[in-house]
Amino acid sequence: MNEYEFDIVIIGGGCIGSSIAFHLAQKGFRHFAIVDSGRKNLSATSQSGGLLRVFHENTDHVDLALRHHELKKTLQTQNILLETNTPNGSLYFFDRRRFNDYTLNLHKMEAAGYPFEIVTAKTGATRFPMFAWNADSWAVYEPLGNHASANQFCDDLLDYSQHSGLTMIDNFEVERICFFRDRYRLFNRAHSVFAKTLIFAGGARSIPHLHELGIGHSLKAQELKVYKSKESLSTLNISNAAENSAIPNFFDREKLQYSGVVGQQRLIVSDLSLEKLNHCFDPERFQEIWALDCYAPQRLGYAGFLAGHPRLLLATGWGGTAFKFSLEIGHRIAQALENKPIERSIAHA
Ligand SMILES: Cc1cc2nc3c(=O)[nH]c(=O)nc-3n(C[C@H](O)[C@H](O)[C@H](O)COP(=O)(O)OP(=O)(O)OC[C@H]3O[C@@H](n4cnc5c(N)ncnc54)[C@H](O)[C@@H]3O)c2cc1C
Repeated sequence: MNEYEFDIVIIGGGCIGSSIAFHLAQKGFRHFAIVDSGRKNLSATSQSGGLLRVFHENTDHVDLALRHHELKKTLQTQNILLETNTPNGSLYFFDRRRFNDYTLNLHKMEAAGYPFEIVTAKTGATRFPMFAWNADSWAVYEPLGNHASANQFCDDLLDYSQHSGLTMIDNFEVERICFFRDRYRLFNRAHSVFAKTLIFAGGARSIPHLHELGIGHSLKAQELKVYKSKESLSTLNISNAAENSAIPNFFDREKLQYSGVVGQQRLIVSDLSLEKLNHCFDPERFQEIWALDCYAPQRLGYAGFLAGHPRLLLATGWGGTAFKFSLEIGHRIAQALENKPIERSIAHA
């Protein structure tokens, strides 16, 4: 049996685990590891659309996404995140009667200097003719909305962290966790890892099974179906083909549909009955993908110490949108460890 011992072990190398590792490395933590089995194929991150926008109904989500946006810009400037992305904009459609509920969210964006516009049905039909607008449909338009490759994002952060003391243990499926003599032991038949502090960033695959692993507080995971176009955008039957690069990503609050242009190359859509886009799609030209993501009650997430478990942090949840604020979650977890553990939750995002 292979045995390892570290000060801190993170279970999960998806966007959350990678972001935590990065911030720990930046803060000078050295003797720490990620254990993972499946980050390149089973994780929600590996299937993620990678769409980045800020507006959300939940004001905490807005705070987290704004911070992620700032952190990402800094890391791009420092050549830590190597991918550069060209914004193609993002539209968040909603029934105009909800507008008053969104005042605080929009104030936050305004105060942070993050650009946005409210587009009404009338102006929308002229500015974004590729979408079907009805009289009650308004949208928040973010010109900086864009897309990033979630895999590349993790690779860049892990590369930096490995140069600063992170050990990666891949192909290790943790089957059981126990706490004994003041440290955690994570093990299966082949491996055993000891950790003084444990951070659980195992995402959707394992979060419903926390009880079986030996931790309380199991959460729900939900299967999502999305489609990716098999061909490049220029060969799809999309009107205004010349303006493809200007098609914004969108999310429809009322129909819970979304679609995004991935790297100006392919389209990812939540459902093929996309009446929102004024185009005809041929299902043959799309590839169906099933993926799991993680849902905490009311789509709120957990980032912080778990009561009743000494030096155990949970960083997961958020309901299908965690890529766009993963850097800030990583920052908060590393900050909590730096400030010496106290057993309370630092953020119910
Ligand atoms: C299809 C799809 C599209 C999405 N699109 C977007 C989007 O456009 N924008 C956005 O912001 N968000 C999007 N999301 C949401 C976002 O991708 C996820 O919320 C985010 O990737 C979750 O990251 P995570 O690190 O918490 O979990 P994961 O990425 O699932 O990572 C958890 C890791 O832990 C490992 N693991 C789990 N259990 C064990 C164990 N017992 N032993 C060892 N390793 C273990 C897993 O292998 C995995 O690598 C999308 C999600 C899906 C599924």
